[in-house]
Amino acid sequence: MSSDEINTIVIVGGGTAGWLTAANLAKSFNSKVPGNIKVKLIESPDIPTIGVGEGTWPTMRATLARLGIKESHFLATCNATFKQGTKFIGWQNDQHHNQYYHLFTSIFDPTQFNLAPYWLKGVAGQSVPYASAVSAQSALVELGLAPKKITTKEYEGIQNYAYHLDAGKFSELLKEHSIHSLGVEFISANVTDVNLSSDGSIANVQTDTHNKIEGDFFIDCTGFKSLLLGEALGVGFTSIKDTLLTDHAVTIQVPYEHEDSPINACTHSTAQDAGWIWDIGLTNRRGVGYVYSSQHVSHEDAEATLRQYIGDSAQRLTARKIKIDLGYRNKFWHKNCVAVGLSAAFVEPLEASAIFLIEAASNMIADQLPSSRQALQFAERKFNESFMFRWSKTIDFIKMHYVLSDRKSPFWQDNKLSSTIPASLKNALASWQEQSVSAYDFAHVYEPFPMESYQYVLYGMGNKPKNIAANRYTDIDKAKAQFAQVQKITEHLIKDLPEQRALLNKVAQYG
Ligand code: FAD
Repeated sequence: MSSDEINTIVIVGGGTAGWLTAANLAKSFNSKVPGNIKVKLIESPDIPTIGVGEGTWPTMRATLARLGIKESHFLATCNATFKQGTKFIGWQNDQHHNQYYHLFTSIFDPTQFNLAPYWLKGVAGQSVPYASAVSAQSALVELGLAPKKITTKEYEGIQNYAYHLDAGKFSELLKEHSIHSLGVEFISANVTDVNLSSDGSIANVQTDTHNKIEGDFFIDCTGFKSLLLGEALGVGFTSIKDTLLTDHAVTIQVPYEHEDSPINACTHSTAQDAGWIWDIGLTNRRGVGYVYSSQHVSHEDAEATLRQYIGDSAQRLTARKIKIDLGYRNKFWHKNCVAVGLSAAFVEPLEASAIFLIEAASNMIADQLPSSRQALQFAERKFNESFMFRWSKTIDFIKMHYVLSDRKSPFWQDNKLSSTIPASLKNALASWQEQSVSAYDFAHVYEPFPMESYQYVLYGMGNKPKNIAANRYTDIDKAKAQFAQVQKITEHLIKDLPEQRALLNKVAQYG
């Protein structure tokens, strides 16, 4: 065996990023077979994980299925629920009752036949919201219905869905599965030092209780600290605090009033004077948090706003404040080290993109990790290009929510200052004033947010092209038939699908 071979991967950090990456790589390399690539994970027994991150994307279904975890087991052990999208409340302006839905997909694939221009022309009816015209799921969510039935196969949906989950329990489940079913070696220790080779790559990490741990390839999952990539290898950090203005979150876990209280079937995101509040329903509690800018509200007032949002029950509950550093590393992969999770970048949790990007990063590492260290430079370049693209599109997409708002408080007005808006977003928004969003805007295969996401947010926020020419988009009959079909499917599903808690209670019996 040549010493140039990559045989041992060492992951430092055991939060969602560490355990998801460990599980994904051990599964890909079939690490439980002796002689195959070995995956070791070092987790500090003293440093807690971030403990938030409860919203996911539909990709999580394929990820968990591939890892060999039963869906009913995952749902029961992580108090998980079905998430069918996000309801944005109060984002358009300061008036009460404005809301719209960002769903994951629509019933008809818009890259095949784009209904949006026809909706813009009023073909679906003048007052039908975009989400209701193209999908059944805003109606299902309003009624608290699940996206599937007890007879639907594991990980399949009658309608599309992701999950809300308990972050701590999710890491525990992945840890248990990684160690016992996938062959990951677990080391409980603090990394105290990172030793470099003469070529500047990582030779080994020093721990407090297990001496030196050697490896051929290292993955930094140490959270905001970025111990390997940032601190040891000196890769710099680009802050985006001038683009996205939030810098803190205050969170409270809220038990349900009754055992059978209904569970929200989507994330609620409610705009506030200096940020927004997320509200996520698990089976045993809600996770609620105010993401805010400390330049625009004091910490005390932010907590008071969150408590007021929750109501009387908040009085006896403890709040936790988290500082968030928005930005990204100038490189994600450097020599024999790659950062995944908060150690690589964090944009803000508005669209729950972080765990999705952890899944994407670990998939790309599994696919692209070369067998020899000599070839690492090629994977490094491809990975860095790919993830710089994905993060910059994520920044633009999240910033777009703020730019489109007509809210008037200083936080929202500051978010609309030209100097805070990336040029790429300005260009895209200008083009969508002339033409509706189309598949031609999404040429890149690894675009993080699909065309539908932009349509839901742009049209939900009331941002429409100035004018759709009468002599364009003339297949009115086809559009009418598809809009009618959406309504028919909606009526059928309302009668057919169970209430979310009722289904989860049944699933729990199998978990
Ligand atoms: P952490 O959870 O911080 O884990 C770091 C690990 O490194 C820990 O195990 C720690 O013990 C270990 N470690 C650190 N130093 C050492 C050392 N010296 N030696 C050994 N081990 C060490 N994402 C979403 O996708 N959806 C959401 O809804 C969402 N909401 C969020 C809300 C907020 C307020 C925030 C801040 C983030 C949110 N995120 C969300 C992001 C998400 O929480 C993270 O991306 C995810 O939890 C991964 O975190 P991590 O594993 O990178 O870091």
